[in-house]
Amino acid sequence: MYKRYKYTVRSNKQIANLVYEMILEGDISYITKPGQFINIEIEKFYLRRPISICCYDENTITIIYKVVGEGTEVLSNLKEGTILDILTGLGNGFDTRRSKERPLLIGGGVRNSTYVWFVQSIDKRREKANCCARF
Ligand SMILES: Cc1cc2nc3c(=O)[nH]c(=O)nc-3n(C[C@H](O)[C@H](O)[C@H](O)COP(=O)(O)OP(=O)(O)OC[C@H]3O[C@@H](n4cnc5c(N)ncnc54)[C@H](O)[C@@H]3O)c2cc1C
Repeated sequence: MYKRYKYTVRSNKQIANLVYEMILEGDISYITKPGQFINIEIEKFYLRRPISICCYDENTITIIYKVVGEGTEVLSNLKEGTILDILTGLGNGFDTRRSKERPLLIGGGVRNSTYVWFVQSIDKRREKANCCARF
């Protein structure tokens, strides 16, 4: 199930070469599983841009994105207080109930950010997960 909501940009800062962290404030009730993504409407672009959810709390979502084209370039210039139209609760996400004692997570690129929340949810039940990431 997904839902369309307005979110407010709370911060948008560069954390590495071409890579940004954005914190969005708004409804999180449709976010249920690590691995899900949001779809952001960007002014003057017909298609929304999908970005994975890195982590979230009671009223904010954190995303990590890389500037690769015009849409993400616009995103990187958004200031605190900007209102964005976003589809939330998208994607099936990872089913953590099926993982065994010590899961191995393999990933590449900026979408590895989604593992932050994934590892947090695994750690609630287990001691450790092995991560293998390439950027
Ligand atoms: C489910 C899903 C989740 C995603 N999660 C994230 C995320 O958490 N963080 C993130 O940074 N990106 C993520 N992406 C990729 C992100 O959606 C695209 O990078 C973004 O839509 C590009 O928009 P743009 O307008 O900047 O570039 P476009 O104008 O669409 O593309 C510009 C140029 O960059 C190339 N390009 C597009 N995407 C990439 C890419 N990812 N890597 C290298 N070259 C590319 C295109 O082929 C094109 O040549 C995700 C994509 C999907 C489908």
